[in-house]
Amino acid sequence: MWAKQYPKQLQNILNKVEQQIQPQISHIETIALMNQKKVLDAFKKHQISESSFAQSTGYGYNDTGREQLEKVYASVFGGEDALVRPQLISGTHAIATALYALLSPGEELIYATGTPYDTLLDIIGIQGNQKNSLINQGIFYQEVPLKNHQEIDIDSLIHQISKKTKVVAFQRSCGYTSRPAFSIDTLQTVIQHVKQQFPHVIIFVDNCYGEFVETKEPLDVGADLIAGSLIKNPGGGLAETGGYIVGQTSLISDCADQLIAPGIGKEAGAMLGVTRSFLQGFFLAPHVTSQAVKGAIFSAALFEQLNIKTDPAWDNIRTDIIQRIHFPDQAQMIRFCEVIQSVSPVDAHVVPVPWMMPGYDDPVIMASGSFIQGSSIELSADGPIRPPYTVFLQGGLTYEHVKLAITEAIYQLYFLKEHENG
Ligand SMILES: *Cc1c(COP(=O)(O)O)cnc(C)c1O
Repeated sequence: MWAKQYPKQLQNILNKVEQQIQPQISHIETIALMNQKKVLDAFKKHQISESSFAQSTGYGYNDTGREQLEKVYASVFGGEDALVRPQLISGTHAIATALYALLSPGEELIYATGTPYDTLLDIIGIQGNQKNSLINQGIFYQEVPLKNHQEIDIDSLIHQISKKTKVVAFQRSCGYTSRPAFSIDTLQTVIQHVKQQFPHVIIFVDNCYGEFVETKEPLDVGADLIAGSLIKNPGGGLAETGGYIVGQTSLISDCADQLIAPGIGKEAGAMLGVTRSFLQGFFLAPHVTSQAVKGAIFSAALFEQLNIKTDPAWDNIRTDIIQRIHFPDQAQMIRFCEVIQSVSPVDAHVVPVPWMMPGYDDPVIMASGSFIQGSSIELSADGPIRPPYTVFLQGGLTYEHVKLAITEAIYQLYFLKEHENG
């Protein structure tokens, strides 16, 4: 019905896809329902009320709304305490804050999931030569390559852990790579192995893009500390900025000292009026995340019908919101991003052009017509222009928006042309 302006053949494919993915869609709705309950229970437990939304200024002492917000995050994500702040400016900043707080010179960080997300390379010191990188501060670093570029290599990981190893870090989402995202079950298995032999090692998980995709979070399966971005899943599309760190009380206290200053810690930090959007966004987050995941499943199934490779496949289990679409050539990749941009609520009139982004060897194209700058819980599509011409598609505040955007893109790429050519 909704697609009736499209050619019959495309309508038929859409109908087929909608029927095909129905079991997956129902599964995603069940997950959203369970997560919504978890969030609601936490709001009740911590007695969120009108006064929780009051704006704090100056030092931000005695900000009860902020304290309640952090308790809600801790409850939902399975930790003892949390830092949820606009002063954490992004996911990268939250992760960096955690790593600097956990590690001292002479201690070692091991990344168990291969090379970490791009923005962490300078922070760790794998790339660049920043004076304050972890490595330049005397922290040791190793990473365990993935087996066949796909799986966590448990044996190598266990073998590499030594007396100086303080933190073993995992990245749940695939980020901008071709490896799969790691499910909570997979993380659980590996974390159990590590903890059995090395109970004192701190397990850190970069939880970006993973929140609310499953019914468990990394702290539920043995991780000690997690961090992420509020302009991704947990902000629910409403948080204007921010990051979070959740975990054991003593570790959160160290993170607060690192973010703010030793001795001041988490008792301070004005919220400047964002507590309402953080709480309301977190309330919406299970649903909004489910919309993005449904959109990803729809996209995967639709592209499969057109023989375009996608991963994960539409019927794979999901643990993050990223959908990779591998286009046969550069022209299709660019055209796809142009159409996604043109079906956005903001900047629909703007045409994205590939540009040389710092840190990349190839031009990158980005479609993002979002209310919050760079927000990737809102529908966005991007990727470096090089074979295999992969577009990373993620987000979508509503399933309807993703459906409309993807369908229009497919129409323009594969049906309009044929039609025009007669
Ligand atoms: C997005 C992301 C980050 C960084 O978050 P920003 O908010 O963009 O700084 C880190 N790790 C992963 C896996 C991510 O997806």
